[in-house]
Amino acid sequence: MVPDEKKGLGRDGTPHLPLTPVELPIDPWLLEGTPAPHCKVCTALAREREEALAYGDRSKAYEVSREIRNHRHVSTP
Ligand SMILES: [Zn+2]
Repeated sequence: MVPDEKKGLGRDGTPHLPLTPVELPIDPWLLEGTPAPHCKVCTALAREREEALAYGDRSKAYEVSREIRNHRHVSTP
């Protein structure tokens, strides 16, 4: 009886790739969001976005931009 020689190939042989955070380039559209000229909320948000950008707070700027994009611009009576 000849035992099959197990060479151990492919036995947990996958290398573990280090999880390095990838610096994504800035997507311009993330900062898109045109505030409606007569919308006070948008005006405030746009100002907030500019401040966030001035502080280098990109995630905040993205967040605010998204709010602007999602805003319905309901005109106040
Ligand atoms: Zn608005």
